[in-house]
Amino acid sequence: MIEIQVYRYNSERDRIPYMQSLQVPEHFRKRMVLDVLEYLHEEDPTLVYRRSCREGVCGSDGMNINGKNRLACITPVSEALGTAGTLVIRPLPGMPVIRDLVVDQSLFFRQYARIEPWLVNHEPAPAIERLQSPEERARLDGLYECILCGCCTSQCPSWWWNPEKYIGPAGLLQAWRFIVDSRDQARTERLGGLEDPFSLFRCRSIGNCTWVCPKGLNPMGAIGMIRLELLKEGS
Ligand code: SF4
Repeated sequence: MIEIQVYRYNSERDRIPYMQSLQVPEHFRKRMVLDVLEYLHEEDPTLVYRRSCREGVCGSDGMNINGKNRLACITPVSEALGTAGTLVIRPLPGMPVIRDLVVDQSLFFRQYARIEPWLVNHEPAPAIERLQSPEERARLDGLYECILCGCCTSQCPSWWWNPEKYIGPAGLLQAWRFIVDSRDQARTERLGGLEDPFSLFRCRSIGNCTWVCPKGLNPMGAIGMIRLELLKEGS
């Protein structure tokens, strides 16, 4: 059997959170962590977590698995376990727990909204689409793939300390995605909006964001690129 520890908290029932010890059959070693949760949920329907696509696309089952934020649906149990004897599943850190593995992501999405994640272009819309050259389109690679799972921001100590003021790695990766978009006309305003001491510059280049991103993206690199742009603007 594989030993499992799952974070449990139901404000209507529990005075404080606790870790519940459970077991699943050995063959789950070849399955995904989400399969483990589905199995446990069958046994105890009060266990609560988010899930949707189970393909690593919707980003809803981000959680902390053996100390690292990951998507449960694309994390093999054997990989998460490594040499550890127990699979330890907790909610995303740094976000208020609503119940069990479900966190309140309101602040995360408020910070995302701050970067105005839409194209700003005041020219009349062309009949079909705003064209880009292959080179212009290629600048969005490594940025547009973000699924807003929150794994990076939730693993960031700078965010833990200043979630109200620091946009966090996910929002900043998205900010860079619009700054480099050839169709966007708000580059100056976007950069100007990040110049205070907290929104961008609270990043301490710890790099947890890039370490955990389940899509292999590099939020720390994007933050560095924005800093470089601001430096160029100032010189
Ligand atoms: Fe998730 Fe990666 Fe996007 Fe962060 S950058 S929200 S970890 S997909």
